[in-house]
Amino acid sequence: MIVDFHTHSLASDGALAPIELLRRAKAAGVQQFALTDHDTTAGYLAVRHTSEAEEIGLISGVELSCRWATTTIHVVGLNFDADAPEMTAMVEQLTQAREERAEKIATRLAGVGIDDALEGAKAIANGSQIGRPHFATWMAEAGAVDSAAEAFDKYLGAGKIGDVKMFWPPLSDVVQAITRAGGVAILAHPLKYRLTGMKLRALINDFKAAGGGAIEVLNGRQPETDLKRLSQLAEGNGLMCSVGSDFHRDFEYGPKLGIDVERLPNGAYVWDALEASA
Ligand code: AMP
Ligand code: MN
Ligand code: MN
Ligand code: MN
Repeated sequence: MIVDFHTHSLASDGALAPIELLRRAKAAGVQQFALTDHDTTAGYLAVRHTSEAEEIGLISGVELSCRWATTTIHVVGLNFDADAPEMTAMVEQLTQAREERAEKIATRLAGVGIDDALEGAKAIANGSQIGRPHFATWMAEAGAVDSAAEAFDKYLGAGKIGDVKMFWPPLSDVVQAITRAGGVAILAHPLKYRLTGMKLRALINDFKAAGGGAIEVLNGRQPETDLKRLSQLAEGNGLMCSVGSDFHRDFEYGPKLGIDVERLPNGAYVWDALEASA
């Protein structure tokens, strides 16, 4: 079976329209799929009743931004009621937070001589959930940097001036928004936060205490040793496992859509629970 429970569309910082992403997933042989745009379900809502959605076993999805102490964390939500007030209120709160953050990023960029970044990034986002990648694309187009990658390296990446912190709701709030909407909360890409082993264990404890249900053991292209380590962490903490490509766009060295579950170690996977509850 081929699945993918972590992907992005034009509704956030991905390159493909939601329906186009679904067609690509179908072409990749995907049988269970979630579109997990950053802090928005707009893409999912736009395609949920299409024949393409049925063909690839589309379930609801989202990737919510939150904070745990001073660290920004991403929590993927799957199989929730996208119309539940807990979810719509959280998405609305995060949309507002992203607007405020975008203004702060632009102010900080103006401080280093890069003017008009808010208007520029908004033009790139074109109504999508705004994020740092839209700033990066605009900065490259405006000639402030040579490439979007350089924009992250110099201005937007972790610890740089455009990395505005502390805007997101606490981890427990986003986990609860997902679980109260009837979904399962998944700690996305746990090794990307660069935490010490001790802090990672503390994060997983807090995540589970808040009602978190699973750990993402495979995210895009990652070393085989990470899959093993994360699978053991999940099992040791009584959490399920999830996997996803984190596909944003076609990119030579980037991940492709779809993960063949045959390559995964034995474990408790979220799709087994979905099938059991169906
Ligand atoms: P945001 O959600 O607005 O904080 O932006 C984070 C997104 O930016 C991630 O989901 C990635 O898609 C992208 N991103 C993060 N770091 C980099 C980087 N170093 N180079 C390019 N894109 C990045
Ligand atoms: Mn992204
Ligand atoms: Mn993420
Ligand atoms: Mn993602």
